Amino acid sequence: MLSRDDVFNELGIGPVWRLRDGGAPAVPPVSAYDWDTLAEAVAHCTACKLHTTRTQGVLGVGDRNADWLIIGEAPGADEDAQGEPFVGQAGKLLDAMLAAIDLQRGNNVYIANLLKSRPPGNRNPEPDEVAACRPYLLAQIELIQPKLILALGRFAAQSLLDTDEAVGRLRGRVHQFHNVPLVVTYHPAYLLRNLPDKARAWEDLCLARRTMANL
Ligand code: URA
Repeated sequence: MLSRDDVFNELGIGPVWRLRDGGAPAVPPVSAYDWDTLAEAVAHCTACKLHTTRTQGVLGVGDRNADWLIIGEAPGADEDAQGEPFVGQAGKLLDAMLAAIDLQRGNNVYIANLLKSRPPGNRNPEPDEVAACRPYLLAQIELIQPKLILALGRFAAQSLLDTDEAVGRLRGRVHQFHNVPLVVTYHPAYLLRNLPDKARAWEDLCLARRTMANL
């Protein structure tokens, strides 16, 4: 599980030091967040340029004590409008994928994204945006303490595993993220365009379910 030290190491930060003249504190360490302060921070975040174009920050949805944590890429137009991850077409497929392994959004499952703000025109996340948003995802992982992470698609997988290997090479085995087992599969939006890979996604879901069962 993600420990306080892991989080500090990951972020490369130490304790919060206040300036002698009472100036603003450094960015709070991940462990300083509870759900309310995290939601507040995401709602008012201006850490990257996406805050100028998004409608709202999209924190995540579901069971805050879930065993399963699903991590996607970033809100799209529907998610930006509604404030909930995966509510568009990709979300329908994600719900079906979850149902295939007897899971349901909100029931022992939490769904989050790498980025909390929509990239304009659904363009790919940029490295500075991923870096700026990382503390929020780490805080979510620390608060939820999931038993298993399912990373959807290239950006979530590569960012969490700190690699540039393709999804096709990362899937099919169990990785670890701070001692939490992590399984990679294709992003539902990709699967909508590449139907034959649905069979591979099914294998990944079975691997995730097996891994969870064996914990
Ligand atoms: N794609 C994602 O990665 N996340 C969403 O919330 C919606 C679409």
